[in-house]
Amino acid sequence: MVAGVSPAGRFAGMTDSLRAWIVSQGEELLTGQTLDSNAHFLAGRLTALGVRVLGASTAGDRVDAIEEALRAACERADVVVCTGGLGPTADDLTADALARVFGVEVEENADALAQVLARYEAAGRRMAESNRRQAQLPVGCDVLLNPVGTAPGFAFTGDARVFCLPGVPHEMRRMWADHVDPWVREQLDHEPPRRHLFRVLGKGESQLQDLLGDVPERFAGVELGFRTKMPENQVKLVAAPGVDAFADAVSEVRRRLGKDLFAEDESVELAAAVAQLLVARGERLALAESCTGGLVGHLCVTEAGSSAWFDRGWITYSNRAKRSDLGVAKDTLVAHGAVSEETAVAMARGAVERSDAQWAVAISGVAGPTGGTPDKPVGTVCFAVVGPGVERTRTLRIPSRSRDLVRRFSAYAALDMLRRQLLRLGS
Ligand code: AMP
Ligand code: MG
Repeated sequence: MVAGVSPAGRFAGMTDSLRAWIVSQGEELLTGQTLDSNAHFLAGRLTALGVRVLGASTAGDRVDAIEEALRAACERADVVVCTGGLGPTADDLTADALARVFGVEVEENADALAQVLARYEAAGRRMAESNRRQAQLPVGCDVLLNPVGTAPGFAFTGDARVFCLPGVPHEMRRMWADHVDPWVREQLDHEPPRRHLFRVLGKGESQLQDLLGDVPERFAGVELGFRTKMPENQVKLVAAPGVDAFADAVSEVRRRLGKDLFAEDESVELAAAVAQLLVARGERLALAESCTGGLVGHLCVTEAGSSAWFDRGWITYSNRAKRSDLGVAKDTLVAHGAVSEETAVAMARGAVERSDAQWAVAISGVAGPTGGTPDKPVGTVCFAVVGPGVERTRTLRIPSRSRDLVRRFSAYAALDMLRRQLLRLGS
């Protein structure tokens, strides 16, 4: 076993030589006005480095509450990352609280003041007197440069190393990268754990458990985790750096997931996976959307470089639009209804005929929460994919009455149907 690495099942590659605690500061976090995205970000980054996050706490805008949270964090952890409360107003109290924890005074810090002044000078503005407050820091702290905002951060070493970062998320992230991440890496006696992500559509968590549950037994030292990020499911493999079986485990999971696997990277979205397949064939896509109302188009053009493979889209919501814009026959609509595979395939054919695309995807469904019938309840969505020599249709019953979820799910299902079709053809 690697020294300093926990043998515990769910924490492959986690070190116990450095334990972390996150403190979020701000009344807005306790009143439900602001989501604590800073803690979410920091927990992810610390974990990815192999640092065990023991806990997180939130303190409002009272100095004794912040002091208590920081004190408890320092007692339990080796590194504490605190965000918020560094601004110029009276409710910004983190520096005072930290000084109390370590029994030091607060005084004007020349480096910090110079930083605040320089920010104002660069912006051609005069510094307000209240901004001097941002330079009132605990005696003996290290000032951390904030290149993207006025509030400098600071760090203090006592029972624990405490980093105090601004609350504004983009400033906090920059300061994590500049100051905290390098410090953490220096302390660690091991490489970060190895991780591999698989992004899956078309299999639920229980199916994935059945399919992959034996992986940790077969590949010693490799751990398996699942996460649902509607509508996809994610599978993660994690291992300590020296685990030889990791690469084999990755290949095995990839093989077992087969066509249900659409990406192996956090930053590769479903539309990018579709794009790759279309570009490889030198072909383009058009869309005929009804209930998704442009959502599929949005997913497509979110991808940089989409002009290479995305031609156009129609939002044909009414029957009249389906007829006039895409040439769907009145008889088809009367005989089968707007939500039918017959209508969907007619929409897709019309889109191919009227565009420069070889492929079209069409979606027509009942997004709800009203408008369902016994025959076609809310969540009934019909899809069609039309391409060179290909015409496929399918109907899904999406088990939700939420309009938002039905639309989102449909958009992904439509792109996934095309992806599977393209995979079947090969490039
Ligand atoms: P502060 O540094 O406390 O002045 O915070 C500045 C702003 O950053 C606040 O008004 C919030 O909008 C935002 N903020 C503070 N803490 C957090 C947090 N934990 N997560 C997300 N946003 C935050
Ligand atoms: Mg605040």
